Parts: sequence; structure tokens; C-alpha cells
Amino acid sequence: MAKNFHIPIRMCISCRERDSQNRLTRFQYIDNSLDIFKGSGRSFYICKNCLNEEKRVIKALMRQCRSGEKEKFRSRLKEIITDDRKS
Ligand SMILES: [Zn+2]
Repeated sequence: MAKNFHIPIRMCISCRERDSQNRLTRFQYIDNSLDIFKGSGRSFYICKNCLNEEKRVIKALMRQCRSGEKEKFRSRLKEIITDDRKS
């Protein structure tokens, strides 16, 4: 492992793999709504591999957010990913 290792390591909530923070996408779940992390509230990370595996990531989201709103997560996730790739 590199000695100058100061990039924060975070865990993907879906596959539980650890990676450097800048390679994971950070989300927030506030007031029953999923979004890209905007600087406040509780947040969690999802890796790029999992973001491409819809079923898997939605399962993880439902567990993480303690919500059974599968369809809501599915459509919201699509919006977020599309926005993210544009910027
Ligand atoms: Zn993952």
C-alpha cells in the first residue's frame, strides 16, 4: 500500500467494496427523497459498477433508506445518473 495514502476510503452500500471516495458516487436520502449529496444530512456511497446494476443497487437503496419504494428509487436513480453524466 502506498505510504502517502490520504485519499479517504469509503464503502459501497451495495457490494461493500471499498474504494477511494472520488471513485464512488455520493448520495443523500432526506425527507424520503434520494439525491446526489449536496452537503448536508446523511449520505452514503455507491460504486460505478453497482450503478450499472439496477436491480442490485435498488435493493441496497431500499435497505439503506429503510424504504420499500422500489419504483420511486428506480425512476429517481435514472434521473440522477442522467444528470450526473451530463455535468
Ligand atoms: Zn458497489
